[in-house]
Amino acid sequence: MSVHDGARAPRVPVSFELYPPRSAESAAALHATIDALAAVSPRFLSVTFGAGGSSGGSSLELLRHIRSYTSVEPLAHLTCVGNTYAGATALIREFLDAGITSFLALRGDPPLSGDSGIGDLESAAQLVQLIDRVQAERAPYRESTIPGLPGAARVDSRPRVQIAVAAFPNGHPRSRHPLEHIDALLAKEAAGATFAITQLFFHADDYFCFVERARTAGVTIPILPGFMPITSPQRLRRVLELSGEALPSDLAIDLDVEPTAEGRREVGIRHASRLAAELVAGGAPGIHLYAFNNHDTVLAVLREAEIIPSIPEQEFAR
Ligand code: FAD
Repeated sequence: MSVHDGARAPRVPVSFELYPPRSAESAAALHATIDALAAVSPRFLSVTFGAGGSSGGSSLELLRHIRSYTSVEPLAHLTCVGNTYAGATALIREFLDAGITSFLALRGDPPLSGDSGIGDLESAAQLVQLIDRVQAERAPYRESTIPGLPGAARVDSRPRVQIAVAAFPNGHPRSRHPLEHIDALLAKEAAGATFAITQLFFHADDYFCFVERARTAGVTIPILPGFMPITSPQRLRRVLELSGEALPSDLAIDLDVEPTAEGRREVGIRHASRLAAELVAGGAPGIHLYAFNNHDTVLAVLREAEIIPSIPEQEFAR
């Protein structure tokens, strides 16, 4: 790492979520976005799975691109809903064969209509266990040579995959009781999860109170706050619909009174950067931003929160 690279390094680990492109034109634009995001040295770039009609194939193609053209760790979301045990095992093998060793294990949402059911795996915790088991079967241990002893080998424990899981600061919308999401997180940690990424939330207190409740219940893995800059009332409505979160009235009012698209973008960046700065000040282990396949808004958030330096994007991309 050069001195110049050090000056560019983020103040806390940052990471971004992307989704597979839906057309050749959007793939080209996404590749430029990946270059711009990679230039700020994120800890990982995650790629959604199954959401919005994407398939394992399109996720894997994007993960391969990240692996081939950047030095950033690609992290694969995997869902188990609707899949058989054998199908999920084959899918995990395919990702491992492509060199992917970081995962976000999710249950996924069962379809609202139809009777296809939840599949063989009923929860994310079971998928965490399966990923760990499939990787153990492929690489039960690692051998290294011993200098000065030709033919001799030392057996080291196997390299572990990183398995993230989802966490819900304000509860999961389908939880049957208020602490069910904390029980689910405990189960995911017991199954082998190495860290958690949160569902979006709007206020730092939501995150810190949740982390405190999780720690009291016995959760010890790092909990990475995940959120996004929201730059229009339409996008706010859509993410509330998808996440089941309550309306953040402060952000909703600020977006509603702003007459121009540029003004609404600034509102979104201001709210998200304030949240990022409060999270970092309170000791969050990093910042994970849902990038919506666009780099300038999320990078503006990190610059305004003083998490990355204010170097123009052209400089970063060089
Ligand atoms: P689990 O941990 O198995 O359970 C989640 C919660 O559901 C538990 O907290 C519990 O309260 C409740 N619950 C568990 N079992 C039941 C039950 N039988 N009945 C009722 N409630 C129950 N989805 C995608 O399709 N693709 C993605 O790429 C994707 N990425 C995501 C990334 C992040 C960071 C987050 C937070 C979510 C993502 N999701 C994605 C959405 C996720 O699949 C849904 O939120 C899903 O409903 C729960 O998944 P889980 O892994 O948390 O499940």
